[in-house]
Amino acid sequence: MAKVCIICEKEVSAGHAVMEDPILGTMRAIKRATRTAKNNTLMVCSSCVGEYQKKRAAFERTFATYLVIAAVFVIALVAFPLFTTGFSIGSLVLGLVFGAFILVIPVLSSYSPRVEGIGPLPAKGEPAASAKEVKKGREGAKKGKRK
Ligand SMILES: [Zn+2]
Repeated sequence: MAKVCIICEKEVSAGHAVMEDPILGTMRAIKRATRTAKNNTLMVCSSCVGEYQKKRAAFERTFATYLVIAAVFVIALVAFPLFTTGFSIGSLVLGLVFGAFILVIPVLSSYSPRVEGIGPLPAKGEPAASAKEVKKGREGAKKGKRK
């Protein structure tokens, strides 16, 4: 099995392994069914780590947005009959189906799996090193001065 970087799509000898998840499993099952599976081991090579982090962060943001839209849809479809005709199992099912469809959009357009050993991008204004540690250090220095 060849190891292929999911960002530059080149064959690589080493890198960070992509973590298996239900979405990748589903994609692989579809590829197998359509006989387009390549059976490559998915990796992120060391020169693509930054690019991968950006993609993953973008996907997480997009997914979170769609999750809110889906939740609003489901709640609206379930709540609406409560005020009119009473609880309806039909609209609950419809809401869940709609919600699932909405969540499929970001997955199809920008899915980026989790990768072993690569964390998320550090938040803006926060250095990569733990900010808490820095704070502790400063407090310690203050205490030292008081003494
Ligand atoms: Zn690469």
